[in-house]
Amino acid sequence: MLLNTKELLRIAEENGFTIGAFNVTELSNFKCVFETAERLDAPTIIAVAENEFEFCGKDYFRFVIDKLKESSVPFALHLDHGRSVKMCQRAIQAGFTSVMIDGSSLSFEENVELTRQVTELAHLADVSVEAELGTIGNVGTSDEGVETTEIIYTQPNQVIEFVEKTNCDLLAVAIGTSHGLYAKGTEPRLQIDLLKKLKKVSSVPLVLHGGSSNLDEELSKACKEGIRKINIASEYKAAISRALNRIMNETKEVKFALMLPAAIEEGKKVVEHKMRLFDSVDKAKYYRR
Ligand SMILES: [Zn+2]
Repeated sequence: MLLNTKELLRIAEENGFTIGAFNVTELSNFKCVFETAERLDAPTIIAVAENEFEFCGKDYFRFVIDKLKESSVPFALHLDHGRSVKMCQRAIQAGFTSVMIDGSSLSFEENVELTRQVTELAHLADVSVEAELGTIGNVGTSDEGVETTEIIYTQPNQVIEFVEKTNCDLLAVAIGTSHGLYAKGTEPRLQIDLLKKLKKVSSVPLVLHGGSSNLDEELSKACKEGIRKINIASEYKAAISRALNRIMNETKEVKFALMLPAAIEEGKKVVEHKMRLFDSVDKAKYYRR
């Protein structure tokens, strides 16, 4: 089933679970996430970052969309961190059912205006829109990580006005996570009290970015307090890359059909772990009623 994220998250909200959005760049990533979602019957969001959109290309999107439509598991295909109206438009034309417009580096008014422009055109095509309020930090994507950039926490008093004015369907909030993998010795801390306040005032489902490497207990607390979508990229991709590296070094193998399956298996372990943590396993049944 291919749904938009509004429909996907509405059922998650009603039943109190959280859906993983896994950033997927090419076929081995897709196999890793898609096959795990099907095996665990877990509703899942397949996400593509704006800076990887060109590399993926329209034939890849067509293949992905066909697979998602044929599946008995509900999926959404989502553009992650779209920076412009034009980029969101391109994703909609490529068949995405959900787009994120990230105006978080702009002023509140400019963010409202940009997001509103995207919701206006996306809703015509029944495509959901994720917006971002507050700024999520950046730690880079290497295993070592780099210094965390500043996080500007989402202000609860701005949420109602923002959602009303933009008509967005889901909202990414900054409560203490950063993108990428954290440096060894750095422990991410989520502001759960802030999340509770945001949840109280938000009429749309809340999203957490930068969920790789956060402590399990923190992520699970965030799910319990109402986060409905968590983005994962670096952590499962790192598991695939590390395995691939090891296999190549140990065996001097060059055949991808022999190297990739074992590496993908390592990625699947991470994806499964996250799905269990988010409590999305065995939840596809709620969409088949
Ligand atoms: Zn993000």
